[in-house]
Amino acid sequence: MRVYNFSPGPSTLPLPVLERAAAEMTDTNGTGQSVMEMSHRSKDFRPIIEKTEELLRSLMGIPANYKVLFLQGGASLQFSMIPLNLASGEAGSPRKKASYIETGIWAKKAADEGAKYVEAITRVSSKDKAYTYIPKAPPPDPDDAYYHITLNNTIVGTKWAYLPETGSVPLVADISSSILSEPLDVSRFGLIYAGAQKNLGPAGTTVVIIRDDLIGKAPSWAPALLRYDIYAAEASMYNTPPCYGIYIIGLVLEWLLKQGGVKAIAELNKAKADRFYSYLESSKFFYSPVDKESRSLMNIPFVVRENDLAKKAEIESRFVKEAAAEGLVNLAGHRLVGGMRASIYNAMPIQGVEELIQFMESFEGRAAGA
Ligand SMILES: *Cc1c(COP(=O)(O)O)cnc(C)c1O
Repeated sequence: MRVYNFSPGPSTLPLPVLERAAAEMTDTNGTGQSVMEMSHRSKDFRPIIEKTEELLRSLMGIPANYKVLFLQGGASLQFSMIPLNLASGEAGSPRKKASYIETGIWAKKAADEGAKYVEAITRVSSKDKAYTYIPKAPPPDPDDAYYHITLNNTIVGTKWAYLPETGSVPLVADISSSILSEPLDVSRFGLIYAGAQKNLGPAGTTVVIIRDDLIGKAPSWAPALLRYDIYAAEASMYNTPPCYGIYIIGLVLEWLLKQGGVKAIAELNKAKADRFYSYLESSKFFYSPVDKESRSLMNIPFVVRENDLAKKAEIESRFVKEAAAEGLVNLAGHRLVGGMRASIYNAMPIQGVEELIQFMESFEGRAAGA
């Protein structure tokens, strides 16, 4: 039996995609091979990667002066590749500066890693309130090599409701947990990146979308496999790309196109999130700890109203266990944050949200009766 999987990542994929991948597993496009068995340089694989890129370009409206790269190493490797490629000089040259906005644990990890290469300046942080809001973004220093934000904060469940004005300083964003969830004006950014395992496909592929003028700035000492210019020149095939992941991403994008594209899925995502937040607003038992203006459409943390912390932890762990027994799985909050979290990415149908709310109402009723 399929469950409703609220995992933050790797997360649920559309059932038709999994069924199609299963049907094509041993013979894809009449080649008599699985995608896993194809040479990445063959005439069989080339149309697969090209189609995936074309679909991503058209769904996201990526302008022609941006390259799309399919890399490995997860979103986390971009925490290193960005400062290495955009802001590192030849040996002995002075360190450049870059701005970081600290809106959560991933944002902080990006800045901590960046600090190994650049003077990573945290312009503002929302740590004072456990990252439950998006702060007002101060302007960058005009000398900054880039300005880094995390567009959707997967762990705490916040998202930027606006984009900061950075003038001529390239805006760089981690969009791992919000890519393709709603329209995004790519031309506002110098570089955006996303690990695939939230809203795109399986873990193992990372998508980087980079403006042409930011390619070719890596210092000579940068390792070949960490250079954007090499991946761009070789169309992501300097070495073997994550072929199977790229194929599945292509199937997910085809599915998304069939759903009506990004605008249509954004409306559905908004309906799902509105439904869940309005239930939380009405509940006397659960609540959202996140500032209203900053709430994510993709990751919705919630907690039990209970001042006794031991009792609260007991109720929450019972909730997660009982929900799992009903086929509503992976609802525990992040290990650093606690509570519960429902991740409702593009592939989560609205029925999943409705069933979760029904379960929460009945849990609340039983708790009130106890
Ligand atoms: C999941 C996630 C990451 C880490 O991704 P990896 O692919 O595991 O490196 C980074 N940033 C955000 C916003 C995420 O949601």
